[in-house]
Amino acid sequence: MQDRLLMVVVGMLVVLSFYSSGFRALSQASEFDLVITNGHIVDGTGNPWFEADIAIKNGRIVEIGKVETTRAVRTIDAKGLIVTPGFIDVHTHIESNIGRLPTAENFLRMGVISVVTGNCGGSASNLGEWFTELEKAGISINIASLVGHNTVRRAGMNGDFDRTPTPEEMQRMRDLVEQAMRDGAVGLSTGLVFVPGTYAKTDEVAELAKVAARYGGNYATHMRDEGNRVEQAIKEALEIGELARCPVEISHFKVNSKKRCGDSKITIKLIEDARAKGQQVTIDQYLYTAGSTFLGRIFPTWLFDGGTGKVKDRPLHSPAVRFFGGCGLLQHLRSGISLY
Ligand SMILES: [Zn+2]
Repeated sequence: MQDRLLMVVVGMLVVLSFYSSGFRALSQASEFDLVITNGHIVDGTGNPWFEADIAIKNGRIVEIGKVETTRAVRTIDAKGLIVTPGFIDVHTHIESNIGRLPTAENFLRMGVISVVTGNCGGSASNLGEWFTELEKAGISINIASLVGHNTVRRAGMNGDFDRTPTPEEMQRMRDLVEQAMRDGAVGLSTGLVFVPGTYAKTDEVAELAKVAARYGGNYATHMRDEGNRVEQAIKEALEIGELARCPVEISHFKVNSKKRCGDSKITIKLIEDARAKGQQVTIDQYLYTAGSTFLGRIFPTWLFDGGTGKVKDRPLHSPAVRFFGGCGLLQHLRSGISLY
């Protein structure tokens, strides 16, 4: 734990040093802008750590080994600390707020310098424009984005989502995924528990994943189920990867039902078996037992008006409506607040 904290501090200092213009001005006369000495280097290749100094000039590592500190403008003694490249966070949802916080210090201060966003089926609706805006804003981290299936479905299906798309709508969605991939997306994401993606069948998702695969993209999924039917959901994700012939990434992998506690033995075996057969599948996971998602997720999908996330006007004798009414929530929901 202590190592992790120390590592973060050093990672942050390196990053801040890269971006410090005043520091660059000082460096004209010296050979290196910065030397980090005595650290244990974990280089990200999977190799064990090794002890060495790192010399940095103009934001780039120019020497690794034994470096004289007299050759540097500035020195950091990293004795007892780990020195490592910035971390990559493969699962974020920063579309709506990176513009307000372009320095992204919440990531930098944890040593994260690259993120993947657009997960769980939701991405910027026009990735090309979004990337251009980010470049203009001058953000401090590297960003890759997936194209979200829910985003594409909302744009492609004319406000009526609880059904199979028509051939024309399917083609429109293919075109939207293709445009996003041309604009730089790194794959297709789904959120198959959320409206409107939850109404999609496996073959619809596979068709769109095929488009992403043509551009070297992967398929990242917040699966249809993470509890009682988690095995079926994993099999669906693997099937989509096989049909589209692309790598599969299963997001926030877990078993989220108390009744199934301990069954990760079963779910992990499904992943290991697929990998043993040669399928390229990976998972990511957060290391705490709490979860967070849209409020709408705790209600049955039939309560909602297609992809709007707003509650349908249901007959008052419906047992579910009586239940939610009893909770005092229904009136609130009917006021038109979107829960997705
Ligand atoms: Zn998710």
